[in-house]
Amino acid sequence: MTTHGGFEPVFCTVVPPHILDRLAKSDNPARSGPAQRTLVRDSELRARRRVTSEYRLAAAPAAKAPSDQPLRTIYDAEHRTDLPGTKVRAEGSDPGQDATVNRAYAGLGATFDLYLKAYQRHSIDGDGLPLDATVHYDEGYNNAFWNGEQMVFGDGDGEIFVDFTNSIDVIGHELTHGVTQYTANLTYYGQPGALNESLSDVFGSLIKQYSLGQTAAEADWLIGAGLLAPNVTGSALRSMKAPGTAYDDDVLGKDPQPATMDDYVRTGRDNGGVHINSGIPNHAFYLAATALGGHAWEKAGQVWYDVLTGGELTEKAFFSDFAKLTVKAARERFGDGGDEFQAVEKAWEQVGVRIL
Ligand SMILES: [Zn+2]
Repeated sequence: MTTHGGFEPVFCTVVPPHILDRLAKSDNPARSGPAQRTLVRDSELRARRRVTSEYRLAAAPAAKAPSDQPLRTIYDAEHRTDLPGTKVRAEGSDPGQDATVNRAYAGLGATFDLYLKAYQRHSIDGDGLPLDATVHYDEGYNNAFWNGEQMVFGDGDGEIFVDFTNSIDVIGHELTHGVTQYTANLTYYGQPGALNESLSDVFGSLIKQYSLGQTAAEADWLIGAGLLAPNVTGSALRSMKAPGTAYDDDVLGKDPQPATMDDYVRTGRDNGGVHINSGIPNHAFYLAATALGGHAWEKAGQVWYDVLTGGELTEKAFFSDFAKLTVKAARERFGDGGDEFQAVEKAWEQVGVRIL
């Protein structure tokens, strides 16, 4: 198992704090109650996770040759908070009655598939890490997360959010935080934090696109489609195609994501706006992928993966550092004569990130 020096676990939940904070202030107790409970639970989990992640890395066994098959186990928390809960589905077993269990199993498998088949990476640590998930966590829990050891999914309160296994891209998003920790280990604050978030959205979306066999033109480029309850005005949590347009709702407010540096948000909340300013590199990826056409994981995704895992991206990288490395990686991967590096260069220019 390869670990990175100065390993600092990221605790990213699917629903970011800026949304829960707003819901928690709602006058309607059916909305504020679950959001307040979710915020309290998340802060307990954040504290606990720091300890378990360090333990896990210290106790990791010596590596053997990783398998080309995932090793998935799904557990049911039965609406309690003890992890992992009761084992309900093991690798290779047939689907059961519970659609939530089956979606979690499929989402872990789709994530494993993209990384292995597109990038020859064995699981999130590159060394065959088993993929565990717990469903039906807590009562009305409005979130899902990867805690450094496993995925955990709430059922949602039914008022604002529904079953968190509904979006394959958010499963991929959370697991990609693991990939980033094992590779570039981007600091989870400010611009490096927004890059960390953006990489999770990029590969989360690619996992969905790969599983559906979609081209860049066919993809919806949404993160979290299918998570919002029917009475919420919105389509998803974020849009890479049109950041700032994913939702506009009385209770949730308006999607705060900028698409370009002109609208970069300076804030101390949400780790310096990591889930907000990620809209800028997200949109750059969308622009590069659609300009290149075809399957987004083959060219744009390969370039982004090369930068994430190539060893030159520093933990404190800014958008411009990352952009420069993508242009370099596109030249190295596809040559100086092709359109690829120019499409990547132009995408960053369009979102206002200067390549120095
Ligand atoms: Zn995240």
